[in-house]
Amino acid sequence: MSDCIFCKIINGDIPSTKVFENEHVLAFLDISQVTKGHTLVIPKVHKENIYELTPEAAKHVFEVIPEIARAIKTEFSPVGLNILNNNGEAAGQSVFHYHVHLIPRHGVDDGFG
Ligand code: 5GP
Ligand code: ZN
Repeated sequence: MSDCIFCKIINGDIPSTKVFENEHVLAFLDISQVTKGHTLVIPKVHKENIYELTPEAAKHVFEVIPEIARAIKTEFSPVGLNILNNNGEAAGQSVFHYHVHLIPRHGVDDGFG
């Protein structure tokens, strides 16, 4: 979608710090990290949110999340990890291209939750 920020990141029109990429999925650091290593995982197909996500796109995203989580663990040495996904403005969604947040936790005072 031409006016979607995340589609622009996929196309390389907006720069990002890539954490993982394959044919179907891109993972990159969130521009406004709630904790160090905060990563977003997105399908390369434009789907607004969970209600639009196809089983195929869901499979592509979730089958690589364990590998991305391990890469984050190696790189940032967190003591925990939250995985979350906001759907709809009322739930806190601000970018309407489906994405999963991987939020490494660095201790009780790491600034999240
Ligand atoms: P949401 O609130 O929709 O669940 O999460 C959207 C996330 O996208 C936010 O955490 C926000 O910081 C991140 N974000 C918004 N624009 C950009 C951008 O241009 N680059 C990157 N890397 N992250 C972005
Ligand atoms: Zn998009």
